[in-house]
Amino acid sequence: MAPSGDSAQVHPYLFTAYLLKLAAEKGVEFVKGRATVLESDSGHATGVRYIPVDGTEEVHIPADCIILAAGPWSPSLIPALPIVTTRAHSIVIKSPSSVDPNAVAPYALFTSLALPKTPRRGAETVTPEIYPRPNQTIYMCGPGDSRAPLPPTVDDVEVEKAACEQIWEWISESGIIERWALGEVTTCRRPFSCNVITICPMPPYSLLKLVFPEGATDIEVFPPFAPQSMTRSTHITYLDTIGRPVITFAYKDLTDRHAGVIYATYKVPFSAHLQKPKAVATAFLGLFALAIMARRVDLRISKT
Ligand SMILES: Cc1cc2nc3c(=O)[nH]c(=O)nc-3n(C[C@H](O)[C@H](O)[C@H](O)COP(=O)(O)OP(=O)(O)OC[C@H]3O[C@@H](n4cnc5c(N)ncnc54)[C@H](O)[C@@H]3O)c2cc1C
Repeated sequence: MAPSGDSAQVHPYLFTAYLLKLAAEKGVEFVKGRATVLESDSGHATGVRYIPVDGTEEVHIPADCIILAAGPWSPSLIPALPIVTTRAHSIVIKSPSSVDPNAVAPYALFTSLALPKTPRRGAETVTPEIYPRPNQTIYMCGPGDSRAPLPPTVDDVEVEKAACEQIWEWISESGIIERWALGEVTTCRRPFSCNVITICPMPPYSLLKLVFPEGATDIEVFPPFAPQSMTRSTHITYLDTIGRPVITFAYKDLTDRHAGVIYATYKVPFSAHLQKPKAVATAFLGLFALAIMARRVDLRISKT
């Protein structure tokens, strides 16, 4: 990723715990609890309400400045935040104690593994990441997925064991890391991540164009939410004669949170399928007729 000495990986827990230690040394007081409300008055922060980990009663802290760092859970405190979440499983593998701590090269690997076709699934490419750590463990991160919604709190996050086993299978079978270095899986995690955060201003309008096959009729489109406007037009492209019906939706202030499935129904009569062969045949016949005519016309200038 960068020349030696220019990049490094940090252990998330050790890194954040160390930052907290430094802050505490400078007089920061650490209070552990679940924030429930960010209070404000006329747009100015006034305080935070939270429930302490060892309590049930809400406590209030006055504040004129609040830093919200609840990651994927931030919209539970400020719902307007356009934060999109995803989850990814990861595992930590402890090498057998017989393995020399320096035997596994300390390189982070961003892999791309082509998996062969099996009776259960087709051929696919997966991209697990591998990070050996100095404490004889190897952190391996699997792909992101959207099979489960974000749970209400971090304590409700559940582990999907099969997803962790899958990462283990990919890495151990690929031979990327010698089998002798692979011990046992010590941790199987399913954290959520706010992988796409858009806090920059949105373009006011977004256009979504749906182009249908030439000759399509009775078109009906069902977007996940109503557009600001909808227009119909025609788009003529290669070998088209009458053009393809186009429906354009205009949306305002779209974010990734609006992502959804659009359903469309339409009919294409059999005659429309013949339109292109007819156009090609007509063009060829025209050329043929021109060629015949050209052979019969004598364009030479004769002396009379
Ligand atoms: C498998 C995986 C691999 C990743 N790999 C990388 C990588 O290699 N490099 C990289 O840069 N990024 C990586 N990321 C992304 C990175 O982890 C996140 O971008 C980062 O953790 C976000 O930090 P954060 O502090 O904003 O949120 P988080 O780390 O999610 O922290 C939010 C914290 O807020 C707490 N919280 C939530 N609600 C409340 C509440 N109401 N009151 C009090 N506390 C609350 C949560 O418990 C949590 O501790 C990865 C993410 C995943 C899932």
